[in-house]
Amino acid sequence: MTGEELQKKLLYTKKNGYYDILDSEKKAIFDFCEGYKDFLNEGKTERECIRYAINQAEKNGFVLLESKDKLNKGDKVYTVNRDKSILLAVIGEKPMQEGTRVVAAHVDSPRLDLKQNPLYENTEIAYFKTHYYGGIKKYQWPTIPLSIHGTIIKENGEKVYLSIGEKESDPVFCITDLLPHLAQSQMKGEATKLIEGEKLNVILGTIPFDDDKISDGVKLNILKLLNDAYGITEKDFVSAEIEIVPAFRAKDVGLDLSLVGGYGQDDRVCAYTALKALFDTDCAEYTTICYLVDKEETGSMDATGMCSRFFENMLAELCAKTEDNYTDLSLRNTLTNTFCLSSDVTAALDPCFDNVMERNNSSYLNKGVCLMKYTGARGKSGTSDCSCEFVQKITSVMDDAGVVWQTGELGKVDEGGGGTVAQFLAVLNIQVIDCGVPLLSMHSPFEIASKFDIYQAYKGYKAFYKC
Ligand code: MN
Ligand code: MN
Repeated sequence: MTGEELQKKLLYTKKNGYYDILDSEKKAIFDFCEGYKDFLNEGKTERECIRYAINQAEKNGFVLLESKDKLNKGDKVYTVNRDKSILLAVIGEKPMQEGTRVVAAHVDSPRLDLKQNPLYENTEIAYFKTHYYGGIKKYQWPTIPLSIHGTIIKENGEKVYLSIGEKESDPVFCITDLLPHLAQSQMKGEATKLIEGEKLNVILGTIPFDDDKISDGVKLNILKLLNDAYGITEKDFVSAEIEIVPAFRAKDVGLDLSLVGGYGQDDRVCAYTALKALFDTDCAEYTTICYLVDKEETGSMDATGMCSRFFENMLAELCAKTEDNYTDLSLRNTLTNTFCLSSDVTAALDPCFDNVMERNNSSYLNKGVCLMKYTGARGKSGTSDCSCEFVQKITSVMDDAGVVWQTGELGKVDEGGGGTVAQFLAVLNIQVIDCGVPLLSMHSPFEIASKFDIYQAYKGYKAFYKC
């Protein structure tokens, strides 16, 4: 045997997926990402993503779970939790108790939330004060066009949805930064202090209400504009949920158009691929479930996050509606026998910052969807470390379906880390592994993903639903 032959037999290497690719597959990859970019543009907040999912679910023949008393194999249902998370299921051939196949992704992304008392005027400029949500590098948010999205409940209970800054004819908003000419001391400081949280104030306007006997006329004029358009008053901000996000649209990146750039790809890239994969999977052996949740970026602790009992409750409802003799044990057995992909993004190796990565255990652009046995920080803190049996099972499912996949840790062992929703599924005694798309510039206003990897995630989730 030659050395080359022995290498082929024994070594484990992964190459760029564009080698040996068929023209038809490349076309399928690129076409798939057109729909994905539309989703990113339509879903800039968790509520907008859920609205998109409901819309698509209904187009694909799903009906509200609450509208059915009994469920049979092949039935397609969805249920929504407080407009911020959604669970969709296709009832499988086998009883729920033999287990289900769940792909769980999150639809919240790092952003700037408005404070509850946000509107103020300083030096005849009106601003919104913000409180950032999730892990951001604050200096990335000034001097980019921003849009305003949110939900306001008026005193009479009426709900108002805001979205300003997305349409071509809309104005956009902005946070300012100091000119370099006067930034000597700013530039010497730590990056975390370049722009402090209390400087993330969004410019709203400069024209005062035309009455020079009052103070804060610019603020009053902004309130009047909002009142004229939406009928809201300053008090309504107290309960409102208003999010400031980048106003730009998702775009192809690169001369070869191989990448998608856009806001919120963590984790909407996995949400979209999981949703599409569910729609494109007919009734499978086991019940297939796509669960899109909120609040991952702040720790999943909310009624609409992964820690909520909503997930268990809905599985109980699916059991009860598919079984004649439902007992609490049905749910327990269902959980124990369920397989789950915690589908969340990971960091692709960035050659410009490769000092924080360990090359043998990093994921790379164009090498496929990334399976992570564990995440966490330092000594795997905050992870659910998946068993070797389950890793092997999932890698064979992917291999059998011709899915291009890779493995990789988030970065060097002592460099930092992060967690996903996997641990909150594992406490339910569900077998779970992290599986998602590698990103460059994660948590920035303009994240980058490879179209090839996005498509492999879709193919991988489809193969998993059928396993
Ligand atoms: Mn994520
Ligand atoms: Mn994240």
